[in-house]
Amino acid sequence: MTITSQPTSQTVGVLALQGDFREHCEMLRALGHNAVEIRKREQLADLDALIIPGGESTTIARLIIGNGFLEPLREFCASGRPVWGTCAGAILLARYVDQLDRPGIETMNIRVQRNAFGRQVNSFEADLDIAGLEGPPFHAIFIRAPRIEAVLPPARAIARLDDGTIVAAREENLLATSFHPEITGDPRLHQYFLGIGKGAGEARSAARTGGSAHG
Ligand code: GLN
Repeated sequence: MTITSQPTSQTVGVLALQGDFREHCEMLRALGHNAVEIRKREQLADLDALIIPGGESTTIARLIIGNGFLEPLREFCASGRPVWGTCAGAILLARYVDQLDRPGIETMNIRVQRNAFGRQVNSFEADLDIAGLEGPPFHAIFIRAPRIEAVLPPARAIARLDDGTIVAAREENLLATSFHPEITGDPRLHQYFLGIGKGAGEARSAARTGGSAHG
C-alpha cells in the first residue's frame, strides 16, 4: 500500500480518554498530519478536526462527563470543524441511542443500536462501497459494532452492508462509521474525513467570533 501525503498538514485531535486512539494517531501521522492525543478540554481550541475513537461508549461517556468535556465537545461539533466518530465514537455522536446509561454528545441526526450484530457475530469483516470514496471497495472490520438504524435529514447514509444495514453516515461536518478504518491500513477514509475540513479555518474563526458555521 502506498500512502501519499495530502498537500496541507492539519492538526487533528483524537479523544484519548479510552479506546483505540493510538491507531488513529498512527494513521494521521503516516498521512503527514499533526495528530494530538486529547485529554484536556483546553486542547480542543487549536484543532482543525477531531476523531472520537472506538472503545467502550459507556466508559467514554462517563469520562467525557467526568472530565468536563460534554459541553466543549458539543460546541466543537457546532463550530463546523470536522468530527468523526468510529464505532463507540459513532454511538457518542448519535442523537438517539438505545442502552447508553448517560448522555453522549448527541449531535448527529442518526439513531444507533449498540452491539447490534449479536453475540455470535461479535466481530466480522465486509467490503463496502462508500459514497465519495474512489477505488476498490473498502475493507471494513466490525468489532462489537453498532448499527445505524436510521438517518434523519440532513444526515445521510454513505455505506451499507449487503442486507441494507447502514454502517456509515455523514451530516455536514460530522461523520460516523460503525467500523474501525484505523486498523486496516487503508487511508482513504481518513483522507475523506480531512477533505471535509476544507474551509475549516473559516469555521474556526466564525466559531471564535461567535458566528455560525452552518449557513
Ligand atoms: N460495543 C462498544 C460499545 O457499545 C463499541 C465497540 C467498539 O468501539 N469497537 O460501546
